[in-house]
Amino acid sequence: MYLHKEVETLNSDGLKKLQAVRLRETIAHAIRSPFYKSRRLSPDMIKTVDDIRKIPLTTKQDLRDNFPYGFLTVPKEEVVRLHSSSGTTGNPTVVFHNRHDLDSWAQLVARSLFSTGVRPSDVFQNICGYGLFTGGLGFQYGAEHLGCLTIPAGAGNSLRQIKLMRDYGTTVVHAIPSYLGRLRDVFAEEKLDPRTDTSLRIFVIGAEPHTEEQRRRIEEMYGVKAFNSYGLTEMNGPGVAFECAGQTGMHLWEDAYLAEIINPDTLEPVPDGELGELVLTTLDRQAMPLIRYRTRDLTRFIPGACPCGRTHRRIDRITGRSDDMFIIKGCNVFPMQIEGILLRIPEVGSDYRITLEELDDNDEMLVEVEVKPDWFTGDITRLDRLTREITRQIRDEVLVKPIVKLVETGSIPKSEGKAVRVFDKRPSSKGI
Ligand code: AMP
Ligand code: ZN
Repeated sequence: MYLHKEVETLNSDGLKKLQAVRLRETIAHAIRSPFYKSRRLSPDMIKTVDDIRKIPLTTKQDLRDNFPYGFLTVPKEEVVRLHSSSGTTGNPTVVFHNRHDLDSWAQLVARSLFSTGVRPSDVFQNICGYGLFTGGLGFQYGAEHLGCLTIPAGAGNSLRQIKLMRDYGTTVVHAIPSYLGRLRDVFAEEKLDPRTDTSLRIFVIGAEPHTEEQRRRIEEMYGVKAFNSYGLTEMNGPGVAFECAGQTGMHLWEDAYLAEIINPDTLEPVPDGELGELVLTTLDRQAMPLIRYRTRDLTRFIPGACPCGRTHRRIDRITGRSDDMFIIKGCNVFPMQIEGILLRIPEVGSDYRITLEELDDNDEMLVEVEVKPDWFTGDITRLDRLTREITRQIRDEVLVKPIVKLVETGSIPKSEGKAVRVFDKRPSSKGI
């Protein structure tokens, strides 16, 4: 069962031809933006999709350097929405959409949900932030497009989430995986069991790395099937790649995105099936097309056909990043953001260490900070005040409350060579 049968099951030749046509159209749009105009591209460069390699890569830095309108291809009157991503210092990463783009995005999310088994008769509760983050409005419009009764529940407030689920008979939930352990605890505190006291049947989980074991645990806790959802603001948000009912990798919607996997050091394509960095080109976006955008996400194409009949290639779980960004509680964080804050605080010494841990099913960010010797005295109130101040500043910057621990100068072990600042001890990490 497919929502867009023709395109979802198009054979590989047909898909490649469609991609070449759309790539030429995309370039024709893109060169109206100051950024791509300066790159002297032309649709005539493209005979087949492989010709895309003639075009240079686009990076997050390019987006930030050309903030805010350098990638815009249409007059501002035509733009109807913007989204922007967390996790940058200085200029945010912002993406603009016109009506066509929003409609195309909603269709991709609807198609993705349908492929997991969601139907118009479902009640869809969207448990995530509705601000600039794309998971809120992205899933809202996608689920509405499919025809679900869609509850814009927003993030947090677990008691209210549970009440909504029970009042309206929620059957499908979208949430970030790291929240679901906490929600399960609140069910337990209320002496409720989500497996018997709700109508939940499908969870859509994404926006941050998680393991197969974490997925199975969530399925077990709630008595549901949980599906991995991958996306990023620069490529609209959710609806880039999604697991189908088979749960064997995420179909990347190749009519809307042209995917390459490259070696992040040599920038050459990796052999099929090997791990590398995902590079994406939008094929159906007008206001702000992006060509060969380096996602920094590491994955691989899963070889072979999927039993579901969809021909769009599948990517594996994201296993890491080719830069130092990490994600905690759904928020993207670059260590530089934290370092920037610490450098501005005079009492702080030269070393710090960030440890990411799973404590009681909750992800926590421990920030140990060396304090200058004359400050590290027995004056507890003074140290307490400094701890609170650092906590507040980090929280304001990265949107996640850290556990800050002040330590004596010299007590953080030095690494040999390049300083290692982040220790990710969570199960989803391959150990940064
Ligand atoms: P944002 O643009 O703020 O939504 O963040 C996008 C980033 O979140 C991606 O580049 C990935 O690093 C990460 N991400 C999104 N979905 C997943 C997923 N299903 N698994 C692992 N990481 C994900
Ligand atoms: Zn499939």
